[in-house]
Amino acid sequence: MKVVENLSIINEKIKAACERSNRNSEEIKLIAVTKYVTTERAQEALQAGVKNLGENRDEGLLNKWETIGNDAVWHFIGSLQTRKVKNIIDKVSFIHSLDRLSLAEEINKRANKQISCFVQVNVSGEESKHGISPENVVNFIHDLKDLENIKVIGLMTMAPLTENVEIIRQSFRGLKELQVKIQELQLDYAPCNELSMGMSNDYTIAIEEGATYIRIGTSLVGDEG
Ligand SMILES: *Cc1c(COP(=O)(O)O)cnc(C)c1O
Repeated sequence: MKVVENLSIINEKIKAACERSNRNSEEIKLIAVTKYVTTERAQEALQAGVKNLGENRDEGLLNKWETIGNDAVWHFIGSLQTRKVKNIIDKVSFIHSLDRLSLAEEINKRANKQISCFVQVNVSGEESKHGISPENVVNFIHDLKDLENIKVIGLMTMAPLTENVEIIRQSFRGLKELQVKIQELQLDYAPCNELSMGMSNDYTIAIEEGATYIRIGTSLVGDEG
């Protein structure tokens, strides 16, 4: 399938999910996750009108960056090793996987502009998942207050691996509650009014529960044949 065809299906589903939940579809920003696909396929997404590209490894990002550069807005969505920060920091506008203080300190040190960050939260408590546990998020955010290049624009999560829609919905709802709690603290460096949640299999649920950034790979750019 062509990316434009996938995109029009996804846009319809976004619209329907917004109608069901009384939201304006302009609040939803779509990130094309290109980690499985070629640079050409990523360029096809840009031509189809997607501006945001997401990669989860530094190699993948650097590789595509060589060709695409600033024609895209780059999002780093994967777990990020501290020693790799310097490779990507001047290329990304958003980091979705801030999950520890040592990483925040390295981002702060290496960046020469403010980086929009999402604090990754392990809402479901699955051991295999990265992220800060919900009860530690507020303290973690307080620890970031002197890092002038870090702006906490929101929270990010990945839903648990299950087919059970109610369990998925509960984890998105949990993230939303936490986001509101942090927003209410009115911290300059952590406005926290965004929610990065929802992938190919669960983005409509995420939208119903308040997502503002959805990260879609397979159903947007997958299946290049
Ligand atoms: C791969 C990935 C996605 C996209 O997953 P799909 O199921 O292919 O849409 C989204 N977010 C993160 C963090 C990922 O690693």
